[in-house]
Amino acid sequence: MATQRFCYHCRRSHPIEEMRQIVTGGRVRWRCRRSVMAARASREERDSFGRSVAAMNRTAAGKPLPRCVSELLVILRDDKEWH
Ligand SMILES: [Zn+2]
Repeated sequence: MATQRFCYHCRRSHPIEEMRQIVTGGRVRWRCRRSVMAARASREERDSFGRSVAAMNRTAAGKPLPRCVSELLVILRDDKEWH
């Protein structure tokens, strides 16, 4: 049946009407619209977090980031690659 597509985000199949194709890492994958919307919302949160970190960096004027912050940045970067 071609009416269902496997959603790599949810790890389950959805009706094809709810699916959209996205290109990530040079590969085409299917994701449901809901997961795309959720990722977009969290990306906006992340961007505003990134902006506040950048502002913090400017005020810190070259001081190294606290360890917890640099670890968080690594997590965010990995997450971005995955999406
Ligand atoms: Zn899904």
